[in-house]
Parts: sequence; C-alpha cells; structure tokens
Amino acid sequence: MVLPICDVCLKSGMLCQGCENKLKSGEISQMDLDIAKILYKVGDGKIGFKKTIEIGDMVIIVTEKDQVGKLIGKSGKIVREISRTIGKKVRVVGENSDLRSVARDILAPARISGINIVYGKDGLQRYKIRIMKEDSRRIPGKLDVLNNIIQGLTSENTLVVLDRNN
Ligand SMILES: [Zn+2]
Repeated sequence: MVLPICDVCLKSGMLCQGCENKLKSGEISQMDLDIAKILYKVGDGKIGFKKTIEIGDMVIIVTEKDQVGKLIGKSGKIVREISRTIGKKVRVVGENSDLRSVARDILAPARISGINIVYGKDGLQRYKIRIMKEDSRRIPGKLDVLNNIIQGLTSENTLVVLDRNN
C-alpha cells in the first residue's frame, strides 16, 4: 500500500519533477499531498491510501478495505489528527466496499436503521437508506450531499432519508 507521492518527496517536503507533474496534471490533488504528508509522519510509512475526494467541508479518504482500520487509528486517533490539521471532517472508506459499509462510514456517527429497495414513479430502482430518527442531530452533513457521495462511491442509485418510524 502506497501513498500518492513518492518517498523522496515525503522525506524532503519538496516535490520532485515526477510528483510535481502529477499535481499539475490533476492526477493528484493538493489534498492528496497534505494527507500523504500527515500519514507519512504518523504511520511509519505503513499506512497508505488511494485517493481523496473533497466535498464541501468533508474529505473522504479511499483506501484498500484492509487498511480502513489502520487509517482510522486506535479510537479514531489518526483521523482526528488529519481532521485537525486540514480543518475538515474526515471519512475513511474502503475501496469497492458494499453499499451498506459505504453508507455506514459516510453517515457516521448517525446510525442506519435500514436499507431497502424502492421503485420511483420513473420506474427506477433505488436503495432507500434510512437514518435512525434519534440520530437526526448526528448526521454529518446535508442529506442530498451525503447521498451524492454515497452514489459516487458505490455507483448505485440511492436516497438517504431520516426514518420517521424509529
Ligand atoms: Zn516525488
């Protein structure tokens, strides 16, 4: 598992020509760089990630499934450190995870009460993801924004709603 910039750059804090070109071409973003530097410092070179997605005041770090726990850190220590340094909320999501895990990771600390398939008037099939009513104050962002993030990460049609029943 590697970081999106090379060791030389992480060690020196400056960008080599190769990484500079990646940044210029948009292959990697400034956010990728910032987070790679933090992880290099706190992770002893053992924690990597694939990419980051910035949406509003939230950054989603996509990593391999078996790296999610490491990246979050003991009791969320590493995620908190990243969040403090970059000044944004941080979520960690495993690459190619199933809809339920992605929804759980993106919507936390609000909990999901259920997911079921609904059919719209347009005949389209959607996954309706219901958030527990009692967690309405713990939802980490606007529902439509969170819904877009989940759709983007899973390529499924989804609809995030607050559960009215429990
Ligand atoms: Zn480099």
